[in-house]
Amino acid sequence: MKTTLSQDQVFDSQTSRPNIPLTPDEERILALYPGGTHADWEDWRWQIRNRIRTLDSIQRIMKLTPWEEHGVIGAGDKLTMSIPPYFAALIDPEDAGCPIRLQSVPQEYEFETAPEEMLDPCGEDKSSAVHGLVHRYPDRVLFLVNEMCAMYCRYCTRSRMVGDGNHTLNASTYDAALNYIRQHKEVRDVLISGGDPLTLGDRMLEYIISSVRSIPHVEFVRIGTRIPVTLPQRITPELLAMFKRYSPIWMSVHFNHAKEVTPRVKHACNMIADAGIPMGSQTVLLRGVNDNPEVMKKLFHELLKIRVRPYYIYQCDPIVGSRHFRTSVETGVNIMQNLRGHTTGYAVPTYVIDGPGGGGKIPIAPEYIVSHSNGRYVLKNFAGELYTYVDPAY
Ligand SMILES: *Cc1c(COP(=O)(O)O)cnc(C)c1O
Ligand code: SF4
Repeated sequence: MKTTLSQDQVFDSQTSRPNIPLTPDEERILALYPGGTHADWEDWRWQIRNRIRTLDSIQRIMKLTPWEEHGVIGAGDKLTMSIPPYFAALIDPEDAGCPIRLQSVPQEYEFETAPEEMLDPCGEDKSSAVHGLVHRYPDRVLFLVNEMCAMYCRYCTRSRMVGDGNHTLNASTYDAALNYIRQHKEVRDVLISGGDPLTLGDRMLEYIISSVRSIPHVEFVRIGTRIPVTLPQRITPELLAMFKRYSPIWMSVHFNHAKEVTPRVKHACNMIADAGIPMGSQTVLLRGVNDNPEVMKKLFHELLKIRVRPYYIYQCDPIVGSRHFRTSVETGVNIMQNLRGHTTGYAVPTYVIDGPGGGGKIPIAPEYIVSHSNGRYVLKNFAGELYTYVDPAY
């Protein structure tokens, strides 16, 4: 039985563009661009060029609340508002609580600060070995290659640096980072992130990936990106053909809500998986977006269907202006408790808090050890029942 479409059926062979019909919401947004065609919609560069960035353009697609209007007016150069038309079509124009809207449309609460908040909560600048390279863990580094993203997430932990203006990371800063990696033989894993590396063109990406992969002690690279979610059109056969030349490559994709898993995103992730690139998801726990067990479970089930393994849930970092997004740690622990044992183990990520100031990822788990003495562990299972395990020495 034939269950999948062949490459020729999915792609228009002239243009390498998938034949996915536009949804009514996509048609509604596309109609706002005079002369805009279905082919434009499939073109990731058109999507980038036509991102929604001004008060005027966002008011044409929805009626803003007063707190959103103040947010849009006040959002500055860093973490500018920027929403690709594709992602804007997922926003519910009638519902200010829409999870896509909360993530992408600024609110005036961003300009408030709380005492625990920091500009660089993960202490990345402090752990920066050379500009754009963070070496925190013994055997792996974070290589930041740009400051641009398709969409700027309003809770971004790197809001101090991401945005469309004032770029400091580019081909001229890569040399020092690459030299550092060459000189540090303990580095076996390089996580390429930004910004979003996939907003770079194929040629620049290939330069970065091939340079890293040519370092003998680097065993593999990972790409940290949100593009498969916010701009799935960027995932082209040409891009994947290039990635395949530098296998093994892993990908960490930032997903926060099941609503993000559209037919287009499914198509992109299937192509990535078919190219031999394993994907893990990184999810930020956000108030009103995904701060309940059922919403998280739905997301993780959707991800397993497109071969994305839930990898981390991050407690929202205490980034300046993020108070309205942050939930209690108890909320996160409760979500974990409602996942483990209650659904497929592959759908259970690790819940972590990045130690504020630069501690790295610290796993937070529900307490399953009820007591422990003389080699006797009293354990609680997922259903709350008690079991005793005795250490072999006793
Ligand atoms: C998250 C992170 C990594 C990768 O951590 P893993 O647990 O291996 O996924 C590496 N370096 C920095 C600075 C990080 O924040
Ligand atoms: S994609 Fe990542 S780096 Fe870019 S704005 Fe969102 S969270 Fe920040």
